[in-house]
Amino acid sequence: MTAFTAPQFTNETAAIAHLEASRWADVVNCPHCGSVNVHRMAGKTQAGYFLCNDCRDKFTCRTGTVMERSHIPVHKWLLAIHLLTASKKGMSAHQLHRMLGVTYKSAWFLAHRIREAMADGNPTPMGGEGESVQADETYYGNTSKRAKHYRKGHSKKASVVALVEPKTGRVRAVHMSKTANVENVREFLVTNIDRKSELHTDESRLYITVGKEFADHKTVEHGWNGRGYYVGKDGQTTNNVENFFGVFKKGMVGVYHFCGEQHLQRYLNEFAFRYSNRSGVGIEDNQRAAMALKGIEGKRLTYRRPN
Ligand SMILES: [Zn+2]
Repeated sequence: MTAFTAPQFTNETAAIAHLEASRWADVVNCPHCGSVNVHRMAGKTQAGYFLCNDCRDKFTCRTGTVMERSHIPVHKWLLAIHLLTASKKGMSAHQLHRMLGVTYKSAWFLAHRIREAMADGNPTPMGGEGESVQADETYYGNTSKRAKHYRKGHSKKASVVALVEPKTGRVRAVHMSKTANVENVREFLVTNIDRKSELHTDESRLYITVGKEFADHKTVEHGWNGRGYYVGKDGQTTNNVENFFGVFKKGMVGVYHFCGEQHLQRYLNEFAFRYSNRSGVGIEDNQRAAMALKGIEGKRLTYRRPN
């Protein structure tokens, strides 16, 4: 793990140099028009600014990223990215607020923008010929029977469907806009999984029809095999996807103390990002932070904080 005292976490000039190197490894290009005909502006007041010789617009390393229009220094952003990508279950806005010395509100916005950076900007189909993909669903929220609006049943909770490629460990998780049903689950599966893949699920009726659209569909019976996990006769399991849901739910309870449904997808992005790029698949903290930093472009946010 990079020490928190590394220059890019404590010194703004070093942080800007770090971000510029991440964004423009080979050549600086204008975020407005894409031109490489740009130059760094001289003069102290224009430090960090570039001028595009084609569109004549100015820009910095923040332009066109989730950091645009933020007043938080770049070195605090880099530290926040490092903390959020390195902690297995995430980090609360309260803790970020204390560690970064920014207001709670700033820490909250910062964390949500970093979650946006963690979203897969170019999702390619999962699986492929000779590969398997595990799919499973879970239901989130509305669990306290003592809460004011508690209502029984899945339709009163948020439905989440997740896919895992066991070979690579890659996860994709989506908050369904309606309760999971045969139609919306099919839509998610056929648009996210290569049809040459083998589909592995439990015996839920949600997957019976869509399963026929893949090379094969193998199910795992809900039963204890005595070895501590569920496994079908051909070795198929849904353990990876269930494990992902386990990490997600523990983090949401222990670190984030639940979230509103309007924010659920961003938390899913965060947990899917860390799980897909975990140390168990050979990705260390510094690499994971560098990957999240690569994701900051093209994802400016417009949402507001509730209440
Ligand atoms: Zn330009």
